[in-house]
Amino acid sequence: MFNLILFGPPGSGKGTQSENLIARYGFRHLSTGDLLRAEIANKTPLGLEAKSLMDQGQLVPDAVVIGMIDAAMKANPDVPGFLFDGFPRTVAQAEALDALLEQKGSSIGVVLALQVPENELISRMVNRAKTSGRSDDADEQVQRKRLDVYLRDTLPVAGYYSQFGKVVEIEGVGSIDEIFARLTAEIDRRK
Ligand code: AMP
Repeated sequence: MFNLILFGPPGSGKGTQSENLIARYGFRHLSTGDLLRAEIANKTPLGLEAKSLMDQGQLVPDAVVIGMIDAAMKANPDVPGFLFDGFPRTVAQAEALDALLEQKGSSIGVVLALQVPENELISRMVNRAKTSGRSDDADEQVQRKRLDVYLRDTLPVAGYYSQFGKVVEIEGVGSIDEIFARLTAEIDRRK
């Protein structure tokens, strides 16, 4: 089993590149943002609780997302690997993920960290808002909040995996194909 984390700030291209990586390698895609949006669409109590936090650019509580990831991993016992996208977003989530993988006798193979300058991130989110229908993309103040939360709570996750030598920085500016080639080169080197 080869598991990887696609890491990066909101708007760095994680969703787009995840789709391409799944098509190439057959990873099981686990995006906590997608799982939460499905809960909202189904109007579950969890979705209702998460929606207001998401609309404000805040994180959903660790226990909620860890529970969703645990259930999704248990529902997919026989996959070649998981691609985690938008998770873990806190060091507590990273520690919980490592424990869940350890139960399966597995671990994170690599953390690919997309590097994109802040002005480019904001303009990508503004553009995405035109087509995504995502209420958390539409408002520039919410975008700023999501970036602040990323810097405060999520960037330390890269520090956490760095201590195990698992983080590889990937230049996240260029065409989708160029960035994809950089990602696959790193995966192929390790797989
Ligand atoms: P994303 O689609 O990954 O940009 O996530 C959209 C929103 O869902 C985030 O701004 C958070 O409010 C929430 N969310 C997604 N993943 C997580 C996570 N791992 N931990 C906490 N909140 C999350």
